[in-house]
Amino acid sequence: MKRVLILGGGFGGIATAVAVRAQLDPADQIVLVDRRPSFVMGLRKNWALVGASSLAEGTRRLADLERGGITVVQGDVTAIHPADRAADVDGRRREADALVVALGAEHDAERVPGFREFAIDAYDPDASARGREAIERLTAGRVVIGIFGVPYPCPPAPFELAMLLASRFAERRTGASVTVFSPLPLSLPILGSAGCATVESRLAGAGVEFLAARQATAVLDGSVQFGEDRLTFDLLLGVPPHRPPAVVVAAGLTRGGPWIPVDRLTLETNFPGVYAIGDVTAIPLANGQMLPKAGVFAEAQGNVVAERVAAGFAGRASAARFTGEGACFFELGAGTAAMVAGRFLADPPDVRLSEPSPEHLAAKRAFEVDRLQSWFGR
Ligand SMILES: Cc1cc2nc3c(=O)[nH]c(=O)nc-3n(C[C@H](O)[C@H](O)[C@H](O)COP(=O)(O)OP(=O)(O)OC[C@H]3O[C@@H](n4cnc5c(N)ncnc54)[C@H](O)[C@@H]3O)c2cc1C
Repeated sequence: MKRVLILGGGFGGIATAVAVRAQLDPADQIVLVDRRPSFVMGLRKNWALVGASSLAEGTRRLADLERGGITVVQGDVTAIHPADRAADVDGRRREADALVVALGAEHDAERVPGFREFAIDAYDPDASARGREAIERLTAGRVVIGIFGVPYPCPPAPFELAMLLASRFAERRTGASVTVFSPLPLSLPILGSAGCATVESRLAGAGVEFLAARQATAVLDGSVQFGEDRLTFDLLLGVPPHRPPAVVVAAGLTRGGPWIPVDRLTLETNFPGVYAIGDVTAIPLANGQMLPKAGVFAEAQGNVVAERVAAGFAGRASAARFTGEGACFFELGAGTAAMVAGRFLADPPDVRLSEPSPEHLAAKRAFEVDRLQSWFGR
């Protein structure tokens, strides 16, 4: 009997577990560990904030994966022993023949003084109801959507939130305005300056103010501080800085860097039989940027790892490689979405913004429904 231990039951961990289960002998054991009892896709967070749909509609119990032959353990990963392909879950050691680290990126709101007190974390599902109520109460004033650090998951998401809010405010005929700020010099650097000009003109067309190259240093009651400058707000929806989970750093997996370096084609770490996928990794691109943190990549990487693990157990070579091809959705309001799509690992990366269309919005909805259906059966 072989054992696969997957740390993290988010986008990448679930995709890996389901894919590897389909390829192994029923006697082989697949254990998926997460501290949370349920899964919800990131894309639901914006829908919940703007009131387009609820988090609950897209939430599934991880325990339901057990029906598909995956052992789900709810608990905290308290230590990882990569040299032994083992981890401690709530202090209890679990050993494996293959170990997959899919622990994602953690919020690091404490890095910004005042963030916890005066901002609503736009990426925290537990803050979603509070954010939604604050948005609903607003009849005038300025909503600021602030990107407080890079990298952050799903680079288009804060701009999508801005477009959806601007569209909501226009429908409700409120006098509220929307501003987005980013520490980066461009909105979505992966698109290059021409693609960013298109994004920024769409923001301007919707009445959204975009402030580039603004590194916030603190949040005060009613204003964000950028060194000497201040930006006032009536409501601040913040994307906090992100960091890898401390347990990953303590295990030596980041090798002194901020994220786990992996072989970008095979997702192997420098420990034999140990893979890392998704937001916890850093994959450099040919243009010096990093692969954006996105569920679609975490899933594709999980599929590669599943195939490689199964091949390794069967004693055969695997040709499975992560190609870096993929697309993220960028909803623009008025029932449309665009795609940020292309070949991210090409030299140079070939990534474009599509024209917005209702079909892309339908594809975004299907993206969620299809995965929930195939992973959880509903
Ligand atoms: C608003 C928003 C919109 C998005 N839209 C899209 C989109 O349209 N398309 C797309 O592809 N991506 C999108 N994303 C990005 C996507 O959600 C992430 O990139 C994806 O979830 C990363 O998958 P992952 O498996 O690496 O990490 P996660 O899905 O974050 O999973 C990590 C898991 O590890 C668990 N964990 C962490 N530490 C521990 C520990 N010590 N012990 C136990 N468990 C632990 C966590 O509870 C979590 O469940 C969006 C994100 C946001 C915030």
